[in-house]
Amino acid sequence: MPSKSEALFARAQNILPGGVNSPVRACKSVGCEPVFIERARGSRMWTVDGQELLDFVMSWGPMLLGHADPAVEAAAVAALKHGASFGAPCPAEVELGELIRTIMPGMEMVRMVSSGTEATMSAVRLARGYTNRAKILKFDGCYHGHSDGFLVAAGSGVATLSIPGTPGVPDPIANLTLLAPYNDLAAVEAQFKAHGADIACVIIEPVAGNVGLIEPAAGFLAGLRALCTQYGALLIFDEVISGFRAALGGAQARYGVTPDLTTLGKIIGGGFPVGCYGGKREIMAHIAPSGPVYQAGTLSGNPVAMAAGLETLGQLAKCDYAGLEARTKAFAEELAGILRAKGQDIVLNQTASLFTLFFTKTPVTDYATSKTQDSAKYGSFYRQMREFGVNLAPSGYECAFTSFAHTEADLELALAAARKVQL
Ligand SMILES: *Cc1c(COP(=O)(O)O)cnc(C)c1O
Repeated sequence: MPSKSEALFARAQNILPGGVNSPVRACKSVGCEPVFIERARGSRMWTVDGQELLDFVMSWGPMLLGHADPAVEAAAVAALKHGASFGAPCPAEVELGELIRTIMPGMEMVRMVSSGTEATMSAVRLARGYTNRAKILKFDGCYHGHSDGFLVAAGSGVATLSIPGTPGVPDPIANLTLLAPYNDLAAVEAQFKAHGADIACVIIEPVAGNVGLIEPAAGFLAGLRALCTQYGALLIFDEVISGFRAALGGAQARYGVTPDLTTLGKIIGGGFPVGCYGGKREIMAHIAPSGPVYQAGTLSGNPVAMAAGLETLGQLAKCDYAGLEARTKAFAEELAGILRAKGQDIVLNQTASLFTLFFTKTPVTDYATSKTQDSAKYGSFYRQMREFGVNLAPSGYECAFTSFAHTEADLELALAAARKVQL
C-alpha cells in the first residue's frame, strides 16, 4: 500500500509538472519523493500520513515566529472577516509601510507587491528607468526570483537541477546581465571599468542564501556601495531572505551599509504572499503613478496579507535576535561536530538564524566553492534525518532556518537524530 504522500505525489505528477508548484520541493536532488503536509504549528509540521516533523525549512524563511503563530493567525482572520480584497487602498498598507521604514530607515518610500520575484523585477525596472541604462550586475549563485534577466547563474533551484543555461530566456535579455563571483570586489570593479556607463544597478543578496549560506567578506558590501556611487549605478540589496532575519533591520543594519533600493519578501507577509521594494524617496518617486516607471498589481497591498505582515513585524520588533543567533550558532556547531566525528568533512557557514553544513573540505565563500560539496552525501543525510523526524531543506544548496519557536529541547532532538545518521 502506498502511503498517502506517495499516492498524492503520483496524482500530483499527472497534473503539476514534476508534481510540484515550485521546483526544489520535489526532492529530486536528495533522491526521494516529497511528503505532503497537512498542518503546521510552532517548530513542527505534520504530514498527511501523521508523521511529526521538526522543521528547519520554515516555508523557506517566512515563518520566523514559528508556524501558525496564534497572534498572526488572529490578525489575518480578523482582516479576512472584512473582505479578502478591495482593489482600493486600505489602512494596513500605510501602517505596514511606515513600520518597515522605522525598521529600515533607508526605505523612505515603499511599494507593496505579491512576491519576492515581483519585488526584484520591479526594482530592476525602476533602476533602469531611473538611470536610463540597460545592464545589471548580479553575482554567480545569487537568486533573485525567476524573472528572465535573473536566471543567469541563479543558485539553488537551478543549481540543484543542474540546468545549464536558461531555456526560454532570449539571449538579448540574458546578455544584459553581467556576472561576478560573490565576494570578489576586483571582478566587480573590472565589470564597471568595462561597462560602467551601461550598468543600471548591482543587485546582491547581502547575505547569500541560495547556494547555501555565504556571508559577505569584510568590506565587500561597503566596496560595492563605493563602486556604485562612483559609477552612478544603483545598489540593490535583495533582502528577501535576510530582511528581518540577519537582524531585525536586515543585512543593511547588520553590516551598516545602506543600499539605494531594497527588496523584501518571505518574512514580511508572515506566510502570506507579500513582497515589497523601496528605498530613496527621490528614486521611488519615479514609480507610477507619481512617476513614469510602470508597475501595478491587482492583489498588491492585500488587506489580509498586510494584517499578517503588521502583526509579524510588530512581534519581531520585540524578539531576542541575539538569543536566537546564539542558540542557532551553538546548535549548528554541535551538528557539524557530530558529522565530523563520523569522519565527514564539514564546512559550517552560519549567520543569525541561518546556517548551511556543506559536505566539503573547501571553505565556501562563493558559488564555485559551494559546488565542491558532495550532494549525494547531503541527500543521504537529508533522507535519514527526515526518517528520524527532522525536516531539512531538500538540497545542499539551501540554508537551514531556525525560528523563535525552536526551543532548546527541539534542538536537542535534532542533534539526537543526527547522532543516529550513518554516512
Ligand atoms: C525567495 C527569494 C526570492 C523570490 O521570492 P519569491 O517570493 O519566491 O518570488 C528573491 N530573492 C531571494 C534572495 C530569495 O531568497
